[in-house]
Amino acid sequence: MSLQDRITTLQNRILRACELAGREPVTVELLPVSKRQPLALIREAASLGFPRFGENYVQEGVEKALAAPDLAFVLLGPLQRNKAKPALQHFREIQSLDRPDLAERLRRLAAELEVTCPVWIQVDLWDEATKLGGCGEADLPALFEALGGDPRLPLKGLMAIPPPDEGAAFGQLADLRERLQQDLGQSLRLSMGMSGDLEAAIAAGSDQIRIGTAFFGERRT
Ligand SMILES: *Cc1c(COP(=O)(O)O)cnc(C)c1O
Repeated sequence: MSLQDRITTLQNRILRACELAGREPVTVELLPVSKRQPLALIREAASLGFPRFGENYVQEGVEKALAAPDLAFVLLGPLQRNKAKPALQHFREIQSLDRPDLAERLRRLAAELEVTCPVWIQVDLWDEATKLGGCGEADLPALFEALGGDPRLPLKGLMAIPPPDEGAAFGQLADLRERLQQDLGQSLRLSMGMSGDLEAAIAAGSDQIRIGTAFFGERRT
């Protein structure tokens, strides 16, 4: 199947999910996830109207960002403190902020480098942090405090990778978003849903679905 055909099939899935959920399709952002996909295919996607791509591994994303400075890459995967600097320099957004020490380090570096980088907090409500990263609900206040409303790291929303067998997960995340919006007095976007479960995520109110295989096909390496 060509990339264009795969994208059309995917967009039809999204349209149908929106219709069933009574949502306007423009309210659901499709973020292609390009990890382990070659740059030529990413460029082809860019030519079809997709300027931003999610990447999981810092080094792979940095290499792609250097090779394609006209494209924007978003970090979705775990970030170690010692990779914080290249991450800030090469990603347009960091979606995997999940601990206070990392927030502090990013703030210090962002001030030093004089850059602004929107962040999303990755949440984990299912004790999966050791595998996938993410901040538990009880630890969120410390993370918000470490972020301190720093204008160099504007908080855009919440990202999560719930376990596939966790049927209630998207609903729990939507509830958490509501509570945090109240507490923080700001609106938060919700990034949830991947190739296998985008319909359920859209039904539960996801603002951004992150799609790898259903967009690009099987990963290459
Ligand atoms: C790989 C990945 C995706 C996309 O997964 P698919 O199942 O291929 O759509 C989305 N989000 C994160 C954080 C990922 O690591």
